[in-house]
Amino acid sequence: MNPEEVKYIVIHCSATRSNMQYTAFQLDRDHRKRGFRMAGYHYYITRAGEIEPMRSLRSEGAHVRGYNHCSIGVCYEGGLLPDGTPADTRTREQKVALRGLVSYLRERFPQALVVGHRDLSPDLNGNGIVESHEWLKVCPCFDAFAEYLKPQK
Ligand SMILES: [Zn+2]
Repeated sequence: MNPEEVKYIVIHCSATRSNMQYTAFQLDRDHRKRGFRMAGYHYYITRAGEIEPMRSLRSEGAHVRGYNHCSIGVCYEGGLLPDGTPADTRTREQKVALRGLVSYLRERFPQALVVGHRDLSPDLNGNGIVESHEWLKVCPCFDAFAEYLKPQK
C-alpha cells in the first residue's frame, strides 16, 4: 500500500468477551480459517496493552469492506461484556497503547482520519452523517472518531 493512499486508520474490536482471553495467535488462526493469508488487521492490542504487529503496513489489510485499499486496521481485544452485550471494554492499558499507536500512525500518515469501523458504514439516507441506526456493526463499541479527533497532550 502506498503511504499517500492511506485515508483512514480504522479502529476495530475483536468482538470477544472481556472475561475471555483472545490472543493474537487465535486471531491469526481464525482469520486464516476464513481464508485470509494472515490476520486481516495491521495491529492487535491485547487486554494487557501489548501491541502485536499482525501485517506489514505495506500490505493491504482485510478488515473493512470497500476501504481496505486505503486504510490501516487496528483491533483491540474485547468489545463484548461477559454476557455478550457490546460495550467499550478497553482496559486502561489498552487505552494507553491505542493512543500511542494512533499517534505513531498519525505521524506516518498525516493525511489519514482516525475512525471506528462503524463510521465507514454506508450513509443510507445520504445526509452526510453515518448515524447509529445506519451502522452495519457496532464495532469498535466506542466513539473512536470523537476520541481521537484531536491529538492529546
Ligand atoms: Zn470491525
